[in-house]
Amino acid sequence: MEAAAQFFVESPDVVYGPEAIEAQYDYRTTRVSREGGVLKVHPTTTRFTFRTVRQVPRLGVMLVGWGGNNGSTLTAAVLANRLRLSWPTRSGRKEANYYGSLTQAGTVSLGLDAEGQEGFVPFSALLPMVAPNDLVFDGWDISSMNLAEAMRRAKVLDWELQEQLWPHMEALRPRPSVYIPEFIAANQSTRADNLIPGSRAQQLEQIRKDIRDFRSSAGLDKVVVLWTANTERFCEVVPGLNDTAENLLRTIELGLEVSPSTLFAVASILEGCAFLNGSPQNTLVPGALELACQRRVFVGGDDFKSGQTKVKSVLVDFLISSGLKTMSIVSYNHLGNNDGQNLSAPLQFRSKEVSKSNVVDDMVQSNPVLYMPGEEPDHCVVIKYVPYVGDSKRALDEYTSELMLGGTNTLVLHNTCEDSLLAAPIMLDLALLTELCQRVSFCTDADPEPQTFHPVLSLLSFLFKAPLVPPGSPVINALFRQRSCIENILRACVGLPPQNHMLLEHKME
Ligand code: NAD
Repeated sequence: MEAAAQFFVESPDVVYGPEAIEAQYDYRTTRVSREGGVLKVHPTTTRFTFRTVRQVPRLGVMLVGWGGNNGSTLTAAVLANRLRLSWPTRSGRKEANYYGSLTQAGTVSLGLDAEGQEGFVPFSALLPMVAPNDLVFDGWDISSMNLAEAMRRAKVLDWELQEQLWPHMEALRPRPSVYIPEFIAANQSTRADNLIPGSRAQQLEQIRKDIRDFRSSAGLDKVVVLWTANTERFCEVVPGLNDTAENLLRTIELGLEVSPSTLFAVASILEGCAFLNGSPQNTLVPGALELACQRRVFVGGDDFKSGQTKVKSVLVDFLISSGLKTMSIVSYNHLGNNDGQNLSAPLQFRSKEVSKSNVVDDMVQSNPVLYMPGEEPDHCVVIKYVPYVGDSKRALDEYTSELMLGGTNTLVLHNTCEDSLLAAPIMLDLALLTELCQRVSFCTDADPEPQTFHPVLSLLSFLFKAPLVPPGSPVINALFRQRSCIENILRACVGLPPQNHMLLEHKME
């Protein structure tokens, strides 16, 4: 069955106006309270009105680390799709596509017809979204290579495809960037030939100018900034330095310690552009988060959830939710791209280790039948740099779980990840979903003042290894809970109930 490109909701609760889609929606949920060891559950209903602006803007995406494997692969992917390229390979002709993108290649079921057949639409059809082929790219890199040369250096794409893309990518040149050697591995220093000079305050000003320049020269309505540069070491959160927006801005003014990624985050927020962090380091320090909240600008992070962690957030969810007690998770990785070389330094590895480590916490905590308070599986992550395998990262995982009556089950997985080809569609989804969220507003019967989503855009959790969430909000890592969150919120915006999989109509006589 082919997915329909369009659909229409026929309901008195949904109005398709010339400017916006407005939907009345009953949010049914529960609150629990604990009374003497008993959970009291209170069903609640809140009436929402969602409003989604229909006009999609001309959207620009600025990549920090544009000339890296991810940056060059994403740019190539969009060009290849826009130009409808196809190329011969030893296993036949291949055509450009967006496999791996939730919005472009994922679908949503809208229900059953009279014959019991499900009707599907692509995720991107749920609400008006920017088409990926219309995105305009720009960005920064500490390496001056143009994007065609960067694509060649990355060794990700088939040669014939590179040849066709070359003339379209040669003129794309990353803007100079901020290089502070102690934040990334020393082995990266030879790349750093394209730098913004001056003090931290001057560098911040230059980044802001770059964003404005791109916006006006490319005739854009909006810009989203995405960090896909090297993994940095963590930076210490120090009171007085980066704990509040005011302190962070003063730190930059005084030239005290700030990471390049935080500098980019601050510049984006000050320009009113959403900032998304695709690497594991703690770019969005409390001061940056406060600034985003003050300016009502979306931020999201951390670390693209592409390969091993994505599988882990499905597999451990499956094991624990089936009632098996997973007690040991051991993950080895080896990779040979520049990311791997950077991660071979201890401090940068540490950032990655941390972001990969917390991914099963919510699943463990969801099952107090299996795990006593404070009990958790052993979880070990190893990453090694092996140049020969290039961008084809190998991820080897072993999961050991306790079965009934003293048995054990061990699952072993070998995953060849094609790293950048997994990451690029995730970057695309991040830009498109963030932009869509900027066009959604809502109010409730109790609070008729229209509001937008919280600036810490936790709806993007599906796409991040260590999702950032608003203070006090639970962190969800389980992949299908994350997917349901996006799907059900987009469904709510067109007045559709959450997908419940009950199929009650087929369970009756
Ligand atoms: P890469 O090393 O090929 O690209 C990074 C680029 O950033 C390089 O071109 C480098 O010159 C540039 N750079 C470094 N510091 C910079 C700075 N301060 N300003 C501007 N540019 C700078 O790496 P990649 O494979 O493209 O991965 C990029 C990031 O994404 C890494 O941090 C990686 O850990 C993260 N990531 C990748 C995946 C994946 O599946 N590919 C998944 C999760 C996270």
